[in-house]
Amino acid sequence: MSDVQQVVTRIAPSPTGYMHIGTARTALFNWLYARARGGKFVLRVEDTDRARSTPEATQAILDGLAWLGLDYDGEAVSQFERADRHREVAEQMLAAGHAYKCFSTQEEIAAFRDAAKAEGRSTLFLSPWRDATDHPDAPYVIRLKAPREGTTVIRDQVQGDVTIQNATLDDMILLRSDGTPTYMHAVVVDDHDMGITHVIRGDDHLNNAARQVQIFKAMDWPEPVWAHIPLIHGDDGKKLSKRHGATGVMEYAEMGIPAAAMRNYLARLGWSHGDDELFTDEQALEWFDLDGIGKSPSRLDMKKLANVTGWHIARADDADLVAQINDFLKLTGQAELSQAQHDGLIRAMYCLKDRAKSLPDLLDKGRFVLEKRPFEYDEKAVNALDPVSRGILRELTAQLQNDSWTRDTLEGVLNAAAQSHGLKFGKLAGPLRAALSGRTVSPSVFDMMLVIGRDETIARLDEAASLS
Ligand code: GLU
Repeated sequence: MSDVQQVVTRIAPSPTGYMHIGTARTALFNWLYARARGGKFVLRVEDTDRARSTPEATQAILDGLAWLGLDYDGEAVSQFERADRHREVAEQMLAAGHAYKCFSTQEEIAAFRDAAKAEGRSTLFLSPWRDATDHPDAPYVIRLKAPREGTTVIRDQVQGDVTIQNATLDDMILLRSDGTPTYMHAVVVDDHDMGITHVIRGDDHLNNAARQVQIFKAMDWPEPVWAHIPLIHGDDGKKLSKRHGATGVMEYAEMGIPAAAMRNYLARLGWSHGDDELFTDEQALEWFDLDGIGKSPSRLDMKKLANVTGWHIARADDADLVAQINDFLKLTGQAELSQAQHDGLIRAMYCLKDRAKSLPDLLDKGRFVLEKRPFEYDEKAVNALDPVSRGILRELTAQLQNDSWTRDTLEGVLNAAAQSHGLKFGKLAGPLRAALSGRTVSPSVFDMMLVIGRDETIARLDEAASLS
């Protein structure tokens, strides 16, 4: 038996109505870290803000995780439902002298701050109740009796040792006067009770960590390993906002980015393994470690995402891609594929997936198997189908009747047809594309003919030839 502790990581999002890509990345890092080590990855919904914590907002988190394929262990934990336990721990800290009842009113605290400001002192509130033994019968909050001297050190795997002067931290509130726990307190109790061994999260929580360390110490609980990841910025290096691109992870799903590509892209936002930009989940699982996380903010780069997406689509399994296309259609409220369209796409996929930039791009390229006759020709296609070209298409319908339906014979027939009219094959490709797909931009003529077969090819050429 190994005495190495099992890794337990978590994602602890506050429901905000959507899943930010920063949260998605944090979830991915935690998932990779745990899954590669035979550990657990758990979900805690930090739903203490009752106004924001609607079932829909929680669902948005579940949807984001599900789309990304980040499965969590056990049931999602509701922080709000654990309030009794948070109270219990605050009481224990009180009993052990690590916390105290503070009866100062809002007005008294404001007056303290005003006076401190006027005298040029720190406005950090110093409660007069910290060492009081005589307690009035009045509402109170429970505050942490934080050390006033010395330093608190966060031993961070990404940031290194971060030292905070205790004199800069106030005696934070653990329990409000209505008995509800503060967020800072609840996080520590939950992380401890859930056996979290590694807290990997955005570095906007680094300051919170100093205060949280104090609670761990007061309770004599083992501290988790800390890893605070720099935030994601826009391509101009500024804090990420809507103008830089989509900030919600489901917006990427709605753009038709495959989840595997998004995982690859998100993994590279702030973490690196040498120069590797394109990799599979298996590789990410093998390579991911905290020491690969950089110290500076990463930048959202839509061009890179397109590149990563192209790579993942090109190497994906055809049937799996078609299943993802169906999910994409459902997600975006479009009609799902019919059986015929499904089968057609699977047959065509080999000639669609190279250089495709998204799932809708595959649908666009696959139009020739998705649409039925009579075709709607776009303007360029109509122009390509001039009278001379229509005449050649008509001749072709007869020439295509007899030969075998292979790439070689098709090339032979089409080249011969072009030559007999003194044309290069390229001249014939435009009208053929128009006839076969209704457009002038399409997969190769041969691929389209091979995928749809002889009867359908002849029917389409016939139809285009009789266009007037
Ligand atoms: N609930 C916090 C958030 O959504 C995360 C807390 C944590 O990871 O400790 O930003």
